[in-house]
Amino acid sequence: MALIVQKYGGTSVANPERIKNVAQRVASWKRRGHQLVVVVSAMSGETNRLIGLAKEIQASPDPRELDVMVSTGEQVTIGLLAMALKEIGLKARSYTGNQVRILTDDAYTKARILSIDDQAMRADLDDDTIVIVAGFQGVDAKGNITTLGRGGSDTTGVALAAALKADECQIYTDVDGVYTTDPRIVPEARRLNAITFEEMLEMASLGSKVLQIRSVEFAGKYKVKLRVLSSLEELGKEGPGTLITFEDDKNMEQPIISGIAFNRDEAKLTVLGVPDRPGIAYQILGEIAEANIDVDMIIQNIGHDGSTDFSFTVNRGEYPKALAILENAKAKIGARDITGDNKICKVSAVGMGMRSHPGIASKMFRALAEEGINIKMISTSEIKISVVVDEKYLELAVRALHKVFDLDQAAA
Ligand code: ADP
Ligand code: ASP
Ligand code: MG
Repeated sequence: MALIVQKYGGTSVANPERIKNVAQRVASWKRRGHQLVVVVSAMSGETNRLIGLAKEIQASPDPRELDVMVSTGEQVTIGLLAMALKEIGLKARSYTGNQVRILTDDAYTKARILSIDDQAMRADLDDDTIVIVAGFQGVDAKGNITTLGRGGSDTTGVALAAALKADECQIYTDVDGVYTTDPRIVPEARRLNAITFEEMLEMASLGSKVLQIRSVEFAGKYKVKLRVLSSLEELGKEGPGTLITFEDDKNMEQPIISGIAFNRDEAKLTVLGVPDRPGIAYQILGEIAEANIDVDMIIQNIGHDGSTDFSFTVNRGEYPKALAILENAKAKIGARDITGDNKICKVSAVGMGMRSHPGIASKMFRALAEEGINIKMISTSEIKISVVVDEKYLELAVRALHKVFDLDQAAA
């Protein structure tokens, strides 16, 4: 008997029919003698609908009240799934984040999990009951409802698996695993049997939303056995999905590049003609940090005649705010001008094999050049190379890189 945490995403619980299918899948695991904790998302589109409603009332919704109402999507699906399980003769019980007591900090809309009380869940499991938990939500020390950021149900799943020391955490979604790139963009993309935590962490943070980045961090930290699978495959005919492995696991396929990630949500700001002196980067970015805006790539050009240009990227949603801050600080910083571009995207190649194979960057840049794609910014780490290009080239760039690194070919 194993303790398994399963998480079903929005598409998997999109309507009553799909919820009944999920119940059948859960039942099939239960019949095999396993204990089950099941985390569900809101029905697909529901969280967006709720955020839309909030924005009709307040252009920037009050974060506390936003969390109160967007968390309701998951409250609906836990109730429905528990009913569906009871309907087929199984014992099930639903829990909101507050009822479990998934304690988080008070950072509304992007709260972090601090601790999870496993007592009630354990009592249910011992009583042969399937535990259903609302994803994406928690409660702070004062009893306020919090949410964990978009895609946060993945993190609920992995955090519960860590807290319960589950044997496996299964993330059920609308694709049958992690692919070499988003199969919606490149139909030739291949499912990976395994990917390392480090690679998955890079893929997630560089835009592959198949797993929320925090869920991968959690799984790495607490050594949770994590697998991505499809909930849409016929029962009994499921594939193996993708296992997220630790680097020291043996017998792993180890291609040079494992995947191509991309992110459309990018914008670039440039501060032109600032004095080339110590402290200037701090002065510019300090203003941005104070406004709680995350900065991603940073480039400072070589100075000429005592002045230099400074560019950085931010999340596109924060672009207007960042631009306004720089315009305001322009005189103080001593900048000649401020420019920006919010029609850019970031495309990245990720792979552990990069460490031991030189020449990956030049291969990547050549492939982009051959397609006539101009690179605006570059950043690298040990296992990834990212470029910023015009948004209009996103699909072309992803396809070109997927091909040049032979990702459409079956692994040797
Ligand atoms: P869920 O609602 O189940 O959480 P998501 O929409 O959050 O599902 O994540 C699944 C989607 O992630 C897929 O439909 C796919 O389009 C997208 N995706 C992006 N990159 C990848 C990738 N490398 N492998 C698989 N899916 C990916
Ligand atoms: N329902 C939330 C969202 O759409 C959380 C999740 O689905 O993971 O972001
Ligand atoms: Mg998701």
